[in-house]
Amino acid sequence: MAKYRGPSCRICRREGAKLFLKGERCFARGKCPVDKPVNPRNYPPGQHGLRRRFRISDYGVRLREKQKLRRTYGLLENQFRKYFRLAVRRKGVTGENLLQLLEMRLDNVAYRLGFVSARGTARQLVRHGFFTVNGRRVNVPSYQVKVGDVVATVEKGLRIEPIKYGLEYNSGKLLPEWLEFDPKKAEGRVVSLPTREQIPVPVDEHLVVEFYSRV
Ligand code: SF4
Repeated sequence: MAKYRGPSCRICRREGAKLFLKGERCFARGKCPVDKPVNPRNYPPGQHGLRRRFRISDYGVRLREKQKLRRTYGLLENQFRKYFRLAVRRKGVTGENLLQLLEMRLDNVAYRLGFVSARGTARQLVRHGFFTVNGRRVNVPSYQVKVGDVVATVEKGLRIEPIKYGLEYNSGKLLPEWLEFDPKKAEGRVVSLPTREQIPVPVDEHLVVEFYSRV
């Protein structure tokens, strides 16, 4: 399956939810097509998006939930399926394991720490070597960060616009409880594994598990 290169907002419209794929634009009043006060486009994209929709099947409900989660983290189907297999093999609740694996990706941790305003940007900057884990440069966005790891940006990172803006824009925002951030050193630490309540993703993960269980 090829990488999706179309408009990000189209994905949110397709899933009928804000997936926060475009950083600050997603929070700017009147900019997000899903919840614009005037002429919101909170219906699916395309020529037939506005047509009356028939009842969605059980399979369709599960498929949409899976797609929503996969697209939130910007993954392709094969990558996502690998995470599901890993989640099944782990002890505990499969849905929660899946979310934890996704949250502990390095690009997601950089995004949650507030270095940048969108996961897509974090992913690109990780690839370009702007982040370190425990002092060592890591350029693999899917790298699994562990509890106790320290994630920081390289010195050059503090001079580039997306990180400068991200740190400024996100400075007053609440961090998830499983992360700590030191603004003076511009580095963050993973304090614990996130629990389901600490993962603000509007997805019913049980439906995702059911989707793969029936295949
Ligand atoms: Fe676009 Fe962000 Fe709104 Fe999604 S949440 S539709 S990416 S502006």
